[in-house]
Amino acid sequence: MNNKPTLGIYGFTGCAGCQLAILDCEEQLVDLFEAADIKVFYEAMSNNDDEAEVDIALVEGSINTETQKEELLEIRKKAKILVAFGSCANYGCIQTMAYGDGKWEERFKKVYGDMKFTVGKAIEPQPIGKFVKVDATIPGCPPSTQQMLMAFTKLLNGYMPVYPNAPVCLECKLNENECLLNKGIMCLGPLTKGGCTAPCPTHNTGCVGCWGIIDEANHTSELKLLIEKGYKKEDIIRKFRIFGGNNIAEKIDELLEVVK
Ligand code: SF4
Ligand code: SF4
Ligand code: SF4
Repeated sequence: MNNKPTLGIYGFTGCAGCQLAILDCEEQLVDLFEAADIKVFYEAMSNNDDEAEVDIALVEGSINTETQKEELLEIRKKAKILVAFGSCANYGCIQTMAYGDGKWEERFKKVYGDMKFTVGKAIEPQPIGKFVKVDATIPGCPPSTQQMLMAFTKLLNGYMPVYPNAPVCLECKLNENECLLNKGIMCLGPLTKGGCTAPCPTHNTGCVGCWGIIDEANHTSELKLLIEKGYKKEDIIRKFRIFGGNNIAEKIDELLEVVK
């Protein structure tokens, strides 16, 4: 008898890099296929069972068409646990960076004109949580191997993944980096969830918040620090919008009101 949990890995709009990150776990891939009965994984399998009910659905990508919205609702019905997999699914990523500015239709028309689409009616892109209940998240663009495998291990054994509530700065300091803020480079590390091991500041590039804004931190004092360093509110928001879309920008906007 097969008692393995069933798993479906689904992809909507994104670069498919989160699914690729699973395939990149070469040493652990066999273990994953042994630990779960994988029903859907288009990036890796040809024998997919779209109709299957699954214990765990990993959903990558944002929702950009009415058809995707319907498919997502179907996945929600079939899955016991639905996981937003990666930053596109969690926050919307680049597709949603201008969400809510009221100019989406204008931009869309400028690019596509009156083109007729066969993939479904386009809608303003949004993260999956705007349409369905999300039970668990795996952040990152793409998720880090270590954090992703930890999350899979928990989920496949009946637990929810829990992440440390520490910002990117902690991992940056563990890497013994000199702070980029002292070198005049804007870095959103103090406001961003850790878990990525701080690759960007370690390579002299400011963090742009792809792991999402940290839940519990002294956001206002961190924002004050960035403003004291001479960064403008608009620039901080613009950076966060790259991966966080409107959800995160709205949050930062609220906080910036407090630090005025
Ligand atoms: S979160 Fe990043 S890696 Fe994953 S699909 Fe979106 S753009 Fe690609
Ligand atoms: S470089 Fe960025 S992540 Fe590293 S300590 Fe400074 S603000 Fe934090
Ligand atoms: S340092 Fe920031 S931008 Fe770079 S991977 Fe980590 S969270 Fe993403």
